Amino acid sequence: MSTIKLQVVSPEKMVCDKDISMLIVRSTGGELGILPKHAPLVTGLIPHAMRIKSDGQEALMAVAGGFMEVTPELITVLTPAAEEPEQIDVNRAQAAYARAKQRVEAFKAAPAQHSEIDIDRAEAALARAKARLIATNTAIN
Ligand code: ATP
Repeated sequence: MSTIKLQVVSPEKMVCDKDISMLIVRSTGGELGILPKHAPLVTGLIPHAMRIKSDGQEALMAVAGGFMEVTPELITVLTPAAEEPEQIDVNRAQAAYARAKQRVEAFKAAPAQHSEIDIDRAEAALARAKARLIATNTAIN
């Protein structure tokens, strides 16, 4: 079966470097499925749980946004942070989710009274936490 190399690079380390059969990501332009020999492209990524297919199995990986470059043989994801499910501290992600959700809800209910809240930052934190919870199959409430 044909494969394509996936390299996921964060400032700290190479999170993933392996041959896969398909990657499904949420780009800034919508969902994309990348197969071997895909046409070259560069796109932004939004925080989400990427789906990585290899050896007939599908695995999830949380990414905190960033960029993806695709060439026919290589997918490079350059991201501020990425974790495989077993690297994710679920309690930490749940706490981050609750914190960000509370900020977003407070701001949306009364923006003028919450000028101290950076809504873009809170929404980005919420999306990162949600990606980590989805990657670990944790219920979100
Ligand atoms: P928090 O508020 O909990 O720090 P965050 O979304 O602000 O969450 P990031 O800035 O995205 O955190 O990531 C900072 C570093 O911490 C990265 O190396 C990332 O991989 C790691 N990290 C963040 N959350 C978790 C988690 N729940 N489990 C494991 N590592 C995490």
